[in-house]
Amino acid sequence: MKNVIFLAPPAAGKGTCSDILKNKYNYEHISTGAILRSEIASQSSLGNEIKSIIEKGNLVDDNLMIKLIENKLTSINKNFILDGFPRTITQAYSLDNLFKELNINNYVVIYLNIDKSLALKRTLGRMTCPKCGKSYNIYFDEFKPINDGYCDICNEELSKRSDDNEESFNNRFDTYINSTLPILKFYEEKNKVIKIDVDNNFEFLSSKLKEIVSD
Ligand code: AMP
Repeated sequence: MKNVIFLAPPAAGKGTCSDILKNKYNYEHISTGAILRSEIASQSSLGNEIKSIIEKGNLVDDNLMIKLIENKLTSINKNFILDGFPRTITQAYSLDNLFKELNINNYVVIYLNIDKSLALKRTLGRMTCPKCGKSYNIYFDEFKPINDGYCDICNEELSKRSDDNEESFNNRFDTYINSTLPILKFYEEKNKVIKIDVDNNFEFLSSKLKEIVSD
């Protein structure tokens, strides 16, 4: 099984794709956004510091993010999914050095390509379970919860991310184009990139992902 890096604009489905792979294989799912959100929820001083950065749709400091990923990758001993890292070229270079140190070469970069208008609609309709993290979408029948507003798995009331509004989305999308997309070239030169054009065809996405990560 290959290690996975997702490269994608906001709401392209990194979380959903990670869930598909996690349900099928024994992956460690490393979502930097989820780690940062739980830091905010703990109301630590670091959490309070990053709260407004995330709500505005800006990026958290590179050094902090790199340290966080170093700690994670050096403490696990199974295949992993990087969901949300790297997001800048500085992060990509650091990750590359870390991979060299840890002798990791069996990985693929899955680039999820999505129209901005579809990504916006997904952002505005996204609801998440605060307990298990499962994501739903009230604008798409195939991603609606069975009971309006409640998680299918834990029956917990669903909540909306505070950065899932139009203003923050537009900033996150611009940040993605300016800071994250240049990473694509870096990995293309290494022959590591596979592109998936995202629509709402869940079956296609599922089988494509499983095919990509198989050795
Ligand atoms: P996500 O859940 O991946 O959409 O991430 C939510 C937010 O967390 C982003 O909009 C950023 O503000 C922050 N974030 C997540 N990952 C990173 C990263 N690798 N570098 C900087 N900021 C990040």
